[in-house]
Amino acid sequence: MAQDWHTQAERMVQEQIAARGVRDPRVLEAMRRVPRHLFVPEAYRSSAYEDHPLPIGHGQTISQPFIVAYMTELLDLPPDAKVLEIGTGSGYQAAVLAHLAREVHTIERFPALAEAAQRRLEALGLDNVTVHVGDGSHGLPEHAPFDGILVAAAAPEVPVALLAQLVEGGHLVIPVGARGMQRLERWTRRADGFHREVLDAVAFVPLIGAHGWPEDDTHA
Ligand code: SAM
Repeated sequence: MAQDWHTQAERMVQEQIAARGVRDPRVLEAMRRVPRHLFVPEAYRSSAYEDHPLPIGHGQTISQPFIVAYMTELLDLPPDAKVLEIGTGSGYQAAVLAHLAREVHTIERFPALAEAAQRRLEALGLDNVTVHVGDGSHGLPEHAPFDGILVAAAAPEVPVALLAQLVEGGHLVIPVGARGMQRLERWTRRADGFHREVLDAVAFVPLIGAHGWPEDDTHA
């Protein structure tokens, strides 16, 4: 790489992430520590730290760095957290979470993406992440409850199955809305029910599954 990756990551944190309002020092430090260039295909390595998503194969993307940091901050994880990510993709978001949580579970519907992500995470020694293959729209009841659930793909509505897998005080962060354009939502489990916040406009690839979009509807 033309420039040392640490220098590029630091610039990404300052100019794209802190400058747009992400303040949590633990999140900023995690974003500095993960070598994003190792999570993108060779052909895109030189733009790994730039301000946009990149293709990772199978019609999927690694999200824009700011969105990764912002969604991570919204989870507001306690120390020793157990967290679930749905939509492993490259494994980058899971690597960021691995620096903030005790235990990370991440689930991906494409086995080839899951295997590649697992190899990257292992190579970095991030042994607190477990990669699962399957339809993450059901969540992962066998490992629930979670302190935080981050959905990295867009659903037509919030999957109720996921809400049921939060601890009290836990947050679910998810893009909700039509294909191509959604709003980020944060749901918080409280003793008396769920609190919903509707946040920024975003554009994620669809969550395909039982509690997402149907498989044969990818171009709607
Ligand atoms: N977090 C990823 C990263 O850091 O590279 C980017 C995720 S990409 C925007 C969305 C991912 O969600 C894709 O890899 C897609 O295959 C996956 N996905 C879509 N529907 C899914 C489902 N029902 N269960 C699990 N993964 C799903």
